[in-house]
Parts: sequence; structure tokens; C-alpha cells
Amino acid sequence: MVWLLRRCVKCGRYTLKKDKCPHCSGEVSVPHPAKFSPDDKYAKYKSVLRSMADEENDNSRERGC
Ligand SMILES: [Zn+2]
Repeated sequence: MVWLLRRCVKCGRYTLKKDKCPHCSGEVSVPHPAKFSPDDKYAKYKSVLRSMADEENDNSRERGC
């Protein structure tokens, strides 16, 4: 599994964008060096993806208004 997540250096949010943060257009970087155990990393990855999905839902709801 490839590490796809990036983290914004400006606002600290996670994103799948590789060039810039969709939230604040800040620079993004790979958030974690490979010091996590695989299980821990994937668990964290999944929880981050889940929170991102929730956030996306919130955003689209706000945009819908
Ligand atoms: Zn940002």
C-alpha cells in the first residue's frame, strides 16, 4: 500500500492532494516517517481517511446551503 496522504504544513489538515492543501492552499508534505508499525499506520490511516470523509460530507452540506 502506497502512502497517499499528505499533510498541510500550514493548517495541519490531511489531504490526498500532492501539490497543495485544498483547504488553505498551503504546502503539503508526507506526514509520517516510516517509524510506525504497519498495523498502527494503517489503523491511523483509516481513521484519518474516515475523518476526511466526514469532513467532505460536512463541506458539501455547507456548500449545498
Ligand atoms: Zn492547509
